[in-house]
Amino acid sequence: MSESKDFLRLKVEEDLKSGKYKEVITRFPPEPNGFPHIGHAKSICINFGIARDYKGHCNLRMDDTNPTTEDMRYVEALKDAVTWLGFEWADKVYFASDYFPKIYDYAVQLIKMGKAYVDSLNEEEIREYRGTVTEPGRRSKFAERSIEENLDLLERMKKGEFKDGEHVLRAKIDMSAANMKMRDPLLYRIRHAHHFRTKDEWCIYPMYDFAHCLSDYIEGVTHSICTLEFENNRDIYDWVLDELELKLPRPYQHEFARLGMNYTVMSKRKLLELVNGNYVSGWDDPRLPTIAGYKRRGYTPESIINFCDQIGIAKANSMVDVAQLEFCIRDDLNPKVPRVMCVLEPLKVTIENYEGEEEIDASYYPHDVPKEGSRKLPFSREIYIERDDFMENPPADYYRLTPSQSVRLKHAYILTCKEVVKDANGTIIEIKAEYHPDSKSGSDTSGIKTKSAIHWVSAKHAKQAEVRLYERLYKIDAPEGLEDLNPDSLHVIKNAFVEPAVISEKPDVRFQFERQGYFYADPIDYTDEKPVFNKIVGLKESWSKKAEATENAPKSVAHKVAHVEGEVVPMSEAEKALFEKYTKVLGLNSEIANTLARDEQLAHFYEETLLHVNSPVSVANIVANEVAREFKQEMELKFSAKEIAELVAMMDEGTISNKIAKQVFEEMAKTGENPKTIVEAKGLTQISDPEKLKPLIDEVIAKNPENVAKFKAGNTNLFSFFVGQVLKNSGGKANPSVVNALVAEKLK
Ligand code: ATP
Ligand code: MG
Repeated sequence: MSESKDFLRLKVEEDLKSGKYKEVITRFPPEPNGFPHIGHAKSICINFGIARDYKGHCNLRMDDTNPTTEDMRYVEALKDAVTWLGFEWADKVYFASDYFPKIYDYAVQLIKMGKAYVDSLNEEEIREYRGTVTEPGRRSKFAERSIEENLDLLERMKKGEFKDGEHVLRAKIDMSAANMKMRDPLLYRIRHAHHFRTKDEWCIYPMYDFAHCLSDYIEGVTHSICTLEFENNRDIYDWVLDELELKLPRPYQHEFARLGMNYTVMSKRKLLELVNGNYVSGWDDPRLPTIAGYKRRGYTPESIINFCDQIGIAKANSMVDVAQLEFCIRDDLNPKVPRVMCVLEPLKVTIENYEGEEEIDASYYPHDVPKEGSRKLPFSREIYIERDDFMENPPADYYRLTPSQSVRLKHAYILTCKEVVKDANGTIIEIKAEYHPDSKSGSDTSGIKTKSAIHWVSAKHAKQAEVRLYERLYKIDAPEGLEDLNPDSLHVIKNAFVEPAVISEKPDVRFQFERQGYFYADPIDYTDEKPVFNKIVGLKESWSKKAEATENAPKSVAHKVAHVEGEVVPMSEAEKALFEKYTKVLGLNSEIANTLARDEQLAHFYEETLLHVNSPVSVANIVANEVAREFKQEMELKFSAKEIAELVAMMDEGTISNKIAKQVFEEMAKTGENPKTIVEAKGLTQISDPEKLKPLIDEVIAKNPENVAKFKAGNTNLFSFFVGQVLKNSGGKANPSVVNALVAEKLK
């Protein structure tokens, strides 16, 4: 358990201490209408975690009150997820449907108490009678029915005498309650549908608000923990249990913030759409945020639990960066998994001065990992290296093999290129090279300096494998629909080569492929004849995030397939000094400082820009990301350091928003125009004048009356929706902080 306790644990402790409950009983109550996702993992960790911490128990309960969407297959997936995450439910899996008879009895009891009635308004009338946030509702005339008539109608509803929607059972509470949910909420509806467990026994089904609190009560749950969107339902929860005068102790509902994550979707409805539409291979597609997807991709339960721990439990909704989850899996695997070599896009190298073959004893772990183990690594005359580890005409910062630059073969010898062999089209098909016999790793006396070590496999000994590389499923951080899917989220490499040690009889194996990332033997498709590996995650946060910003960037760069992360080369003294200065004096974060310090060209550009504008952090961000990308892609930059300084100055003064700055930069890089000219010509100046912003806000508010009502009824999460809409409608030009203040005032 973490040091500082979250508000839920504090509440549980308080309740145990005061003697309100003797034992903590929680429940995880999913609806079995889809596979669980990482948001459910958070809920599982909270509910089962609290039960474990306080020696109580947690029930796994299927909230199966909606017959049309549920299925036993989803029940199995939910059980799998809980077990995989390392939790155990008490005795058996519970089902709300097992309580249908009891829940029905409670409904009868409410009618007898004069607290529920059968209403015969249709759906539309019910909505109309409910009123709005600003107007009270009206009660239906059917609320006057006598107890006898209500009892008779409910029974006949149960017997199947009526059609769907003909009648409903409602609680008689208050049609002018400020909380709209309390305006005579529905308790039962008619649904002639086959239920996957109760079959055709019932044709009336209890609504969530009626079934949930009673299921909790029946199971003796103490703390009913759910997500914030149920905050307004809490009043009904309490009303039902109080009015029925159920004996104490009874459960109470507590809400926490739902987990949202960027670059993905989390609702089961949207996930189902992806699965049914074959946009992914199934619920366990490794690109999905489902537990089954993470499991198949190679995530460990520990990494997911750590992630849920790290993001904490809060009362305010927020969006978590998927990079944080990726950090957790890297952090978990880094000390655990053996490092081996795999070549994704092979280029043959013939080592002309090498005869025969040998086996190198190569350790699986680097020195700083407290783990031992090694394998025999075959070396021979013909090897494969990664195609992009050789360049004939390299840029200045290229550290790998070139016609004039030697490179170390990891665990083996230093290699020098002698000849580049090309086919008729000019494509390089082979390198003829020489090795240096006195340069073997660990006993190198050659005195030859190299700037990096590359991975390789012996051609004769390597085994062919299929490698599946995954990118984010969506191309934008807050995807809305299918149109936002990333068309390049899956890349299959059929002819990768792995060293023999990678071939394993055991299932459930993970490796670090040196310089490529972490990989997992696909639990379904892997066979001895055809090994298949899934990329779990890269070695460090990759470029893809930046590449995606430029849709017109050349394909080779934006969607670079075998993105090889270079071996970390130690910094030179000069680079170290720069790094120190950037982090300590200029206040840059270490990642950005590292990028700049290690690249002479970038560092120079950065410092030159600073001569024109004193804004070290903003300039560093632009130079290390956008400018660096241009350096990589273009022979010649179309903009100068001075112009970047002007762009940053406009951002700092608030003339343009950060979002617009990115757009201006793209334009500068493309056309070579001056940033001020671009901003003026395109009318991109940030709008901070409240008088200009107010009409935009009014428009958004007028267009979304339902959301305004929800907001006023207490769904404060919608605040960011309104702000977001205004920013969007302004084409990104509105000043976000001004919009925030104005929207807050408007909705007050
Ligand atoms: P979805 O909208 O994704 O279909 P749901 O809330 O309808 O999810 P349920 O199966 O009803 O899914 O949820 C089971 C439990 O998991 C509930 O207690 C719910 O609050 C919780 N839960 C669902 N999504 C999240 C999330 N994103 N973050 C935290 N908890 C979640
Ligand atoms: Mg739901």
